[in-house]
Amino acid sequence: MPQDPVPGLLSRATELLEAEFTYLPPFQQHTDSAAIAQILASVAHRLADNYPYFHPLYAGQMLKPPHPVARAAYALAMTINPNNHARDGGRASSEMEIEAVRQIAQMCGWNEYLGHLTSSGTLANLEALWVAGQSAPGKRILGSEQAHYTHRRISAVLQLNYAQVPSDNRGRISLEALENELRKGDVGTVVVTLGTTAIGAVDPLDQILALRQQYGFRIHVDAAYGGYYKLISHTLAEPARHAYAAMDQADSIVIDPHKHGLQPYGCGCILFRDPAVGRFYKHDSPYTYFTSKQLHLGEISLECSRAGAAAVALWATHQLLPLLPNGEFARGLSQSRAAALGLHRCLQVDDRFQPLAAPAPELDIVVWKPTAETAEKSSQLARNIFDACAQRGLHLALVQLPLSWFSQSAADANPAESKLVTCLRSVLMKPEHEAWLDRIWERLAAASADTIGKRTE
Ligand SMILES: *Cc1c(COP(=O)(O)O)cnc(C)c1O
Repeated sequence: MPQDPVPGLLSRATELLEAEFTYLPPFQQHTDSAAIAQILASVAHRLADNYPYFHPLYAGQMLKPPHPVARAAYALAMTINPNNHARDGGRASSEMEIEAVRQIAQMCGWNEYLGHLTSSGTLANLEALWVAGQSAPGKRILGSEQAHYTHRRISAVLQLNYAQVPSDNRGRISLEALENELRKGDVGTVVVTLGTTAIGAVDPLDQILALRQQYGFRIHVDAAYGGYYKLISHTLAEPARHAYAAMDQADSIVIDPHKHGLQPYGCGCILFRDPAVGRFYKHDSPYTYFTSKQLHLGEISLECSRAGAAAVALWATHQLLPLLPNGEFARGLSQSRAAALGLHRCLQVDDRFQPLAAPAPELDIVVWKPTAETAEKSSQLARNIFDACAQRGLHLALVQLPLSWFSQSAADANPAESKLVTCLRSVLMKPEHEAWLDRIWERLAAASADTIGKRTE
């Protein structure tokens, strides 16, 4: 583990916070420090039963450590444990949430909006689809096959009619299939994913906007994972760049600070372009709104209690790493992307592998399959390489994708082909992955040599 600056910084800041409350008479809280120390030792031991998510050799799922400033600020806020439902429960942290959310909205190109943090991307998407359903009752919601699986489930919870539109062999929503559905005239909202969870595909939002002009529907952008790439979208390849440029035309946007935003879990964000959707949230709470006439975040969100600490951590992170296209945070995204492009290039020149997403991954997720005559053999090799890499300390992920996506020519690719193949997947979302690429490839190459044999020269 890297040297941890948090304990020192935190104890200094805790003293400062305590100093703010010295006007109160002191009181004792009974704690048994010896017992706690013993329990914490067991906790440390129990936590070892995890993949080392914090390390650059963990290059599997969408997981990365929160920034030290976020951890310290979150822990400091725990001394107070504010609740961002209402001002009564968290005055300072409600203000900090409003400021941090404004910075995310501005990153998306919005100065006027309605928005707040949520406990997760799923809850944020639930609010988006809830407003979608309220805005266009009885109309259908569409999302691609590669949209996050929770959209279907959320729609079921909200009793909205959800339908899936096929994806093309790059994992993007098929515009042809989408238009076929739109012609039926009963579509209220289309979920557009900027950065799919499986492969980081970017739906062509700009072209979907053209369809909106013709057919009229709401657009919900699910950018839970990919949203921050807006900051460096000018560096992305052509179709993705255009999609991100159109982000401000969406009706609602979801971004997860706990995915790419260096936050501890418990931090999603929902934004609506039209502040008037606040009317749908209207409710009376006889016991939570008392001492302030200002807007309570609970008046514009579906959740009641919510961690004020999550807002404090996000606010602190934005102070250190502002969401600017040329800032250090954006540089971290560029490093992740460079790592993904680098790994893709290594795979491309190795005949043992077939990387997906020619000519290159759209964001920072790399997916590839071992070369083999059948899907079954390829899948088995993928599982073997996954294990062999883990033994060398390199942690990848597996994902099931349509075999047709790997066809060399578009003519071969039969979208109706439903056969799935298990692929290797690496989310290179830590900036450190760029510097570690050689060591990642070294381990992957060695694991593959043991599993499939050496590459042919
Ligand atoms: C992760 C993800 C979600 C779900 O977000 P949680 O924070 O895990 O609830 C939704 N959509 C996309 C595109 C995601 O990547």
